[in-house]
Amino acid sequence: MFLDQQIGILSGFELHLPQLTLLMRLDTLFIFFAATLAACGAPAVVEEAQQVAAVALETPTEVEVKPLTFAIVIHGGAGSPSRDMDKAQLAGLTGGMAHALQVGLSDLRRGANAVDVVERVITILETNANFNAGRGAVYTDAGRHELDASIMNGETLACGGVGGVRTVEHPISLARLVMDETRHVLFVADGAEAFADSLGKRVARVDNTYFDTDAAAKSLRAVQESRRKEGASKTADDSNPNEIKGTVGCVVLDMQGHLAAGTSTGGLTGKSFGRIGDSPIIGAGTYANDKTCGISCTGVGEEYIRHGVARDIAARVEYLGINVIEAADQVVHGVLKEGEGGVIGIDKDGNIAMSYNTPGMVRAVGDSNGRFDIGIWEDFLK
Ligand code: ASP
Repeated sequence: MFLDQQIGILSGFELHLPQLTLLMRLDTLFIFFAATLAACGAPAVVEEAQQVAAVALETPTEVEVKPLTFAIVIHGGAGSPSRDMDKAQLAGLTGGMAHALQVGLSDLRRGANAVDVVERVITILETNANFNAGRGAVYTDAGRHELDASIMNGETLACGGVGGVRTVEHPISLARLVMDETRHVLFVADGAEAFADSLGKRVARVDNTYFDTDAAAKSLRAVQESRRKEGASKTADDSNPNEIKGTVGCVVLDMQGHLAAGTSTGGLTGKSFGRIGDSPIIGAGTYANDKTCGISCTGVGEEYIRHGVARDIAARVEYLGINVIEAADQVVHGVLKEGEGGVIGIDKDGNIAMSYNTPGMVRAVGDSNGRFDIGIWEDFLK
């Protein structure tokens, strides 16, 4: 958990404390500054600071910390990214996050609604081959790609998901069409492909090889090699532990106070026939409700399904009256086991959670107060 998530960061005079309007008198800051210097024993500087404080007291200036009107948090997967990862990979991950965050923020600034922003941000990441979603998705054990995605509207509780799709360029957009245009929530495999067929040109289709990348092929070879050595066929992911898995997710609080969340993934490297993870399952990998919070998860999908992670976090916000930061930490560090993954979330009050029990989680966060942070390991990148 980050300190700035709990108490805000003082940067200039802007305090990133979600949804609070704080009026800060400059003189108070100067007095605090003078007192600190005095405690450090720097009398000349103290005198000067006191003079400034005296002037400030005569002409009180109020610095308004604006209430937070919108916020967005994005993840690009949790895992064990090596701090020595090559520069191109680092730039690919951080550049991809920064671009997606920038687009999301500018849409939000123009008043876009949360669902549209979640879909747009995720399609950008699905196009980026650095992430395990859309192009760049991992391979199944059979050497192809089967993609999962879901999206949820916190205002209406409308939601949609697709699992095991093979020819849909943007699974998140097909999930949205399930949400918007059917009375169902989840379509999988041939059924999801048939649903895409029924929508004709409204759904962009590609050959399965469109999703191919050398990096994902290398991971599959490594997984299959290690399985051969162990003589066992596992269904869980046993890819290189130094990797970041690269699933993507996004949670948004828009200017109208509505929440939305979405998640998209290629799943786990070398996954078995028909395996579906948590990402397309509402309540496991994705959840949003304006009354509580929006959540998107990344990690070992079976555990997220087993524990209903996204819904569990929202239930804690609702039943325990705690904020999403505390609720996410309780689940990620108390319910899930070390190394299983992470979550992002925003609650109705604008608190932002980025909690993970792996060594790292690729993430980006921004808000109406000018916050723009990208991180992989504990500290945000400079
Ligand atoms: N949760 C995804 C799955 O199990 C994978 C991930 O988030 O990395 O399919």
